[in-house]
Amino acid sequence: MYFCSVIDMIMLEKYLQIIEESFSGYFNYLVSEITNPSWTNYFYWLIGLSLLVWLLEIFIPWRKNQAIFRKGFWLDSFYIIFNFFLFSLVGYNALSNVGVELFNDFLGLFGIKNIVAIEVQDFAVWAQLLIMFFIADFIQWNVHRQLHKKPWLWKFHKVHHSVKEMGFAAQFRFHFMETIVYKTVQYIPLAMIGFGIEQFFVVHMFSVFIGHLNHANLGWSYGWLGYILNNPKMHIWHHSKELPKEHPYGMNYGLSLSIWDYLFGTAYIPKNGKNIELGFHGDENFPKSFQEQLAYPFKKTQKTTQK
Ligand SMILES: [Zn+2]
Ligand SMILES: [Zn+2]
Repeated sequence: MYFCSVIDMIMLEKYLQIIEESFSGYFNYLVSEITNPSWTNYFYWLIGLSLLVWLLEIFIPWRKNQAIFRKGFWLDSFYIIFNFFLFSLVGYNALSNVGVELFNDFLGLFGIKNIVAIEVQDFAVWAQLLIMFFIADFIQWNVHRQLHKKPWLWKFHKVHHSVKEMGFAAQFRFHFMETIVYKTVQYIPLAMIGFGIEQFFVVHMFSVFIGHLNHANLGWSYGWLGYILNNPKMHIWHHSKELPKEHPYGMNYGLSLSIWDYLFGTAYIPKNGKNIELGFHGDENFPKSFQEQLAYPFKKTQKTTQK
């Protein structure tokens, strides 16, 4: 008994130390990101890509009567800062480091030290990036479908679907639980393939760029490339308030790629979706402020109904 509790104490101390180091480590990282611009700097790439897509919206808008500071613009701008930076700073980084350590310790119980099943480190960098991008996106497509189908996940995902006017920043209006769900599901398969951390940067920023464009007020579909890449004219239907009978939970689940929707029969673009109504049934009762939206899924009484 005594021996056990000493072990427990040592383990607990280890996890607490990871949490503490994650917090201070991430804070130092964040400060150095802002003070040291470089070509692999998340902060400046995010600002640069956001300004670029916003300028495109201003100069060549799809819905010409939509305000530059559209409905929800400031809320979504805050979501960008929160979901891209602060959430990692205040919690996710610490949580995920503990999660990874717990997972490794759990594997250690079975004598497994390394879960890398496929070595891709020897491949050319572009091939590694492409493989990682496709696998990560396919996993996300599956997770996104579950966010619509499972009622408890839909409560969290409603935050993203509460967007009433589309613009690039809407990409980042989502509940922080989504980060936890997506990252957890992605972690094991990606770790098994043995990708290096440096590959994440390029793939991550490319996905942010495509995601910004998908939500932007731009009438683009990229021609034949639209069957591979998700695009604004396709993603707007994902936000449609009215759902067709054949897709009662939704359609166009793709994040960066549209190919999965075409392959698995969930693609749906019946006409030009420029002015369709966005949201979900009952969204008029959905909270409008950041704090209320974060609290919403945890409340027992749900005012709005599922689609
Ligand atoms: Zn969705
Ligand atoms: Zn969206």
